[in-house]
Amino acid sequence: MLPPFPELFEGSDHEQVQLIQEPSIGLYAVLAIHDTRGGPAFGGIRRLAYRSIGEAIRDALRLSEAMTQKCLMARVPGGGGKGVVVDHPGLDLTAAYRLIGRYVENLGGRFYTGPDVGTGDAELLLLRDSTRFVTVPGSEGPGDLAAATARGVLAGLHAVLSFLERSDSLSAEFAEHTFAVQGLGSVGYLVAQALAQAGAQVTAADPISERAARARDELGIEVIHDGDLFDLPCDVFVPCALGGILHDLTIERLRCRAVAGSANNLLASPEHAASLASRGILVAPDYVINSGALILGANFHLTGGREHGAAIDAIGDELFELFGWANSEGIPPPVLADRIAADRLRKRRSVASFFPEPFASNREDPK
Ligand code: NAD
Repeated sequence: MLPPFPELFEGSDHEQVQLIQEPSIGLYAVLAIHDTRGGPAFGGIRRLAYRSIGEAIRDALRLSEAMTQKCLMARVPGGGGKGVVVDHPGLDLTAAYRLIGRYVENLGGRFYTGPDVGTGDAELLLLRDSTRFVTVPGSEGPGDLAAATARGVLAGLHAVLSFLERSDSLSAEFAEHTFAVQGLGSVGYLVAQALAQAGAQVTAADPISERAARARDELGIEVIHDGDLFDLPCDVFVPCALGGILHDLTIERLRCRAVAGSANNLLASPEHAASLASRGILVAPDYVINSGALILGANFHLTGGREHGAAIDAIGDELFELFGWANSEGIPPPVLADRIAADRLRKRRSVASFFPEPFASNREDPK
């Protein structure tokens, strides 16, 4: 084992990290491939105002590793990748996405990319100008990814309620239960809509006032200031906004029995799983409950199929089983999920990385 170099990569076991710099169009980006021993890497492109290229690299490493965990838990035959782009006023968006597409194309199918924060339909179509290996919206693509994620979250919420009610099957209904939905964007709105339609009592928040007003008017739900949502007494807090929202200050404020939603990297740090457990709050591991879009997108790229409702609904069964297992082990579910994913990854140790044709013939088991 080589000593960690440089410090940025300490603890990282990524297969490939590519730095893309094109100052003439203001482009500073990173493509990270964590693991392809199960198949090609999947992961979207995140565009954020990172303060340094170091911060962007760290985020790419963390997010691509989480995609591997997501694939392992959903048993998707693939691994984790991620692109990150440093957003700033000097970035020429059109040229940047087209150029990133060429880098993705150059990987020959080792990495399939798609949407993420800052990369929506318009950016995906720019990527598509220069690569085949991107998930596109509309009839050419796999379908509505946010709807797939929302479907998985709803399946997960059934598991959460059933576990809280000590049921021996996924029999709990949403009606009569109370939910606090954080974020009314692509996923949060659909989740709030389904919960409200099922007779649940839903309170939601979004700092974008048009989104909050639309949910109040169309769904008839109560909308409150986003800063107040953590303090709301409810059965389940449903985070569908940003990651890193559960930390010392917010965990103390929560008045819920469980946290389960689509937000990626929910815990500010892994130790917060224990803080939540000590407050008796059940947490659905983020990369298990939010894997609906990955299941739909990856299966579309691998098989051309679009219908994966049953696999997405199975997220509920997986979570229900995970909660029971974690309970019997006396550990928080996110800790158990990390252990299971790490164990499944270790079992791939003797398998070589994925290289698509025509490079596949180079795929030999490592010595
Ligand atoms: P989105 O950008 O469409 O919506 C996020 C919403 O959260 C926005 O309306 C934003 O205003 C709101 N928000 C931001 N800060 C908030 C706060 N403090 N309180 C309340 N609302 C706040 O994003 P999305 O596609 O709906 O994804 C939501 C989350 O789920 C993200 O963390 C994303 O990474 C994760 N996720 C999404 C998908 C998918 O298919 N879209 C898949 C997996 C994971």
